[in-house]
Amino acid sequence: MPMADAVTTPTTTPHQTHGEPIVEARGIGKSFGELEVLSDIDFRLEPSEVVCVIGPSGSGKSTLLRCLAFLEPYDHGSVYIDGQLLGYEERGGMRVRARESRVDAVRAPVGMVFQHFHLWPHRTALENVTEALRLVNGLSRRDAEAEGMAMLERVGLAERAGHFPESLSGGQKQRVAIARALAMQPRVMFFDEPTSALDPELVGEVLDVMKQLAHDGMTMAIVTHEMGFAAKVADRVVFMDQGRIIESGPPETLFRTPRSERLQQFLNTWR
Ligand code: ADP
Ligand code: MG
Repeated sequence: MPMADAVTTPTTTPHQTHGEPIVEARGIGKSFGELEVLSDIDFRLEPSEVVCVIGPSGSGKSTLLRCLAFLEPYDHGSVYIDGQLLGYEERGGMRVRARESRVDAVRAPVGMVFQHFHLWPHRTALENVTEALRLVNGLSRRDAEAEGMAMLERVGLAERAGHFPESLSGGQKQRVAIARALAMQPRVMFFDEPTSALDPELVGEVLDVMKQLAHDGMTMAIVTHEMGFAAKVADRVVFMDQGRIIESGPPETLFRTPRSERLQQFLNTWR
């Protein structure tokens, strides 16, 4: 497939030699009415790869993640999760939609964390984590609680298990949301600006958890404005503007030697 933009050729990463991508999008297009929000996007995530997506507000970052998880149906192209079609593909010149009943199963390996944590207010931290384990995975209360505690431990919140969201800080709430996603044993995690709603002093504790996940080999796509984090943790940074991928490559290349004027301008606003 041709890449989305002629400004640069995206740089390959060492991961790309490892075989099957966990997420692969080919030629994704999406419009809301007249507004073209995504335009011919190609996107791959290799096992254990950490990709940070950066770009100005309104450039299509959230829509891209949502289309990759098929929370938003896209208009053109195809998305594959672990080699399985999620959404549509072209067959013999026809646009064919994957069976509706397959969507949940194909999307199951994807864990998502959003800017706003979407915790159940009347459930404790532990209950927020165990809810899907019990309802979706059918675990017994005891098994779900053991698993839930292990996940809270992983994000450093075991001692807050019995607390309700209102008595947790924003950073703690976001860590509960991460634990909840991890409990479903995702093969890949999507984060959409996970620290943007947090007070500055709480950002670090969430980024530390994400850093640890990266260290543990989790495959991640992270929309973020935290350039320091992206520089340190990302294997690859993708810069989007106006619904297109303008540049993609290792953080040291993108941040030190941005090739497009748009990325140069964007980085200047964050320096
Ligand atoms: P980003 O996450 O980079 O800020 P978004 O993906 O949220 O960008 O939005 C890209 C563009 O699509 C914006 O112009 C936004 O207003 C528009 N948009 C996003 N969601 C919708 C929607 N549900 N209906 C109409 N327009 C939308
Ligand atoms: Mg967004």
